[in-house]
Amino acid sequence: MDLPRLDIKSSNITPLIFQTASGTPYLKSPGFSILAVPSFTPDAMRGFLEGFDVDWDVDDYLNDQHDENGAIPDGANLAMTAGQLCYMSFGAARTRRKDAKSYFDKTVRIGGHGSIIEHCNYTVLFWGVDRAFTHELVRHRAGMAYSQLSQRYVSGKLLRFVERAEFQDDVALHDEFERRIDVARKEYDYLAQELRRTINVEGLSKTEARKAVNQAARNCLPNETEAPILATGNARSWRHIIHMRASKHADTPIRRAIYQLGCALIDLEPHIFGDFQKDPEHFTLTSQYA
Ligand SMILES: Cc1cc2nc3c(=O)[nH]c(=O)nc-3n(C[C@H](O)[C@H](O)[C@H](O)COP(=O)(O)OP(=O)(O)OC[C@H]3O[C@@H](n4cnc5c(N)ncnc54)[C@H](O)[C@@H]3O)c2cc1C
Repeated sequence: MDLPRLDIKSSNITPLIFQTASGTPYLKSPGFSILAVPSFTPDAMRGFLEGFDVDWDVDDYLNDQHDENGAIPDGANLAMTAGQLCYMSFGAARTRRKDAKSYFDKTVRIGGHGSIIEHCNYTVLFWGVDRAFTHELVRHRAGMAYSQLSQRYVSGKLLRFVERAEFQDDVALHDEFERRIDVARKEYDYLAQELRRTINVEGLSKTEARKAVNQAARNCLPNETEAPILATGNARSWRHIIHMRASKHADTPIRRAIYQLGCALIDLEPHIFGDFQKDPEHFTLTSQYA
């Protein structure tokens, strides 16, 4: 079956890169890109469905892939199939794809059947985010997987920093931020140079020697060091993260990043995330069902 794939190209924000007068790079806002979304092949159900001696019209089930907006996204389609498997609802009396929204309202949002959206995974790369941001994000463990830049493996050549919004509009605070990150970078370079001289690297591989230096040199780096992170989570976990972090109680950098991600997920998968209400002024997303 030839269904259009989700357009994930628009699901990204690329922030500008700035530099201090001495060339220390930094970013002023988070970037993100959704790298992977669910991919579902309905026709792969055929062998299973055709094995039952009942009056299901299997072609009708497999061709029923559209609501009023066209082919429903793969995530919603997959989750709905998971729900229909639970009750073997593949016959004429089933909920059809055109009623997918009310299906998700009844099952996931009101019926407590949240596990069906756990089949849908979204992989997101965040950058222009600092170590404080990632420390908050990785506290979300259930249904999540993370891969983060290693400050032991990666040398200081790729160091960048993140300026909080509070510092950006005040000349004195902004100047102080630029001074601080210039100092941090110089201090890192100095420490790395001294450690290369003092650490006994005899018997260590080149990589082990580099890690021995970097792991000690990084101690001088501030929270505002950039920390790119790749996060994969299922839709249930992302809904929880949006609820907790695109919230007025959350710190502003993570709130802004998760707000932007949440808006992209609403566009990609309106059946699953569409109940979140956007408040762009405060970067919050709220739902009575979260
Ligand atoms: C505004 C704000 C302020 C915060 N302040 C602090 C702070 O001062 N200090 C601090 O240490 N942390 C703080 N946190 C972090 C917070 O305590 C959580 O650790 C974090 O938000 C992760 O959320 P979660 O516990 O829901 O975990 P997730 O991994 O996102 O889990 C999702 C859900 O799964 C269930 N679950 C997950 N793991 C378990 C488990 N082991 N056992 C049983 N059920 C589980 C729970 O229902 C949980 O809500 C703060 C968070 C926010 C949003």
